[in-house]
Amino acid sequence: MSQCLFCAIAAHEIPATFVREQDDVFAIRDVNPQAPTHVLVLPREHIESAAALTTAHGELWHRMLMTAQEIARDEGVADGGYRLVVNVGSQGGQTVSHLHVHVLGGRQMTWPPG
Ligand code: AMP
Ligand code: ZN
Repeated sequence: MSQCLFCAIAAHEIPATFVREQDDVFAIRDVNPQAPTHVLVLPREHIESAAALTTAHGELWHRMLMTAQEIARDEGVADGGYRLVVNVGSQGGQTVSHLHVHVLGGRQMTWPPG
């Protein structure tokens, strides 16, 4: 069993609702959704956070954002607008130390975030 929750989900050791499964990137529905659409886009590779990204991850990061765009379109939120969130580290609100982009949509977002 993987030590990391999202590595375990990537390996299908823990169940999740998959929205996308690609070689390098996958997406799952958040178990505690904060909006009608709340999907997480993740790399299969274990990367601790956005702070650990390097130029070598350029193509992977690009693929993650393209996947987020596709999901927003598929979920019907692309035209109205949506929010991409990447929490970084403890004070940034990151609770799982495996890089992920939140795709949130289907309701009016507010600013500032909590
Ligand atoms: P963050 O706080 O930015 O690290 O986001 C972690 C997200 O993972 C939270 O929104 C959680 O609701 C979500 N989460 C935690 N456990 C699971 C799980 N087993 N399946 C899907 N999403 C999860
Ligand atoms: Zn991991």
